Amino acid sequence: MEPIKLYSLPKLPYEYTALAPYISEEQLKLHHLKHHQAYVTGANAVLEKMDKARKDNADLDMKAILKELSFHMGGFRLHNRFWENLAPSGKGGGGLPKGGIAKAIDDEFGTFERFKKEFTQAATSVEGSGWAMMTYCTKTGRPLILQVEKHNVNIIPGFAILLVLDVWEHAYYLDYKNDRAKFVEAFWNIVNWNMVSGRFDSLKKLP
Ligand code: MN
Repeated sequence: MEPIKLYSLPKLPYEYTALAPYISEEQLKLHHLKHHQAYVTGANAVLEKMDKARKDNADLDMKAILKELSFHMGGFRLHNRFWENLAPSGKGGGGLPKGGIAKAIDDEFGTFERFKKEFTQAATSVEGSGWAMMTYCTKTGRPLILQVEKHNVNIIPGFAILLVLDVWEHAYYLDYKNDRAKFVEAFWNIVNWNMVSGRFDSLKKLP
């Protein structure tokens, strides 16, 4: 297949009503169709600007354009992962992790409750806009929690995204106003652990 060269907004793997009451239809539509779309548009605009400058052999402000690219591509990719690691409560969403990821969490954190507490604190304490993320270091065999500022600050290069939670205000403002902690608490009811577990298992297969 020919590479597509530009990004497009992926469809959600469920209906807009599917994550209620934890994420309402109105909130999910706005988040996906407006905010996620804005990062698609933003990333494509940067790519096209670079294409044009190269075609015209014009100068680019590399510092500015690469910062912009990192921000928009970060936003685009994190949202893709975020939608995928959610599922309707009771229909794939919520509950406890199973299999290899469950064992890795227990080995690292002692208990799932301890992991949940640390991840929750990472999410609730992001300064301004950002994300809480779980990744995994294949060298040490340790799952790691990251606290990402904006879409691209505090990331450790080369680590896959296993689980991610968007705590930008745009993710929860309609449903929870300024109560980020309440949104983070609700998130646990719609985590798609099967998806997280599948990502973990395929990472473990890498050489
Ligand atoms: Mn978002």
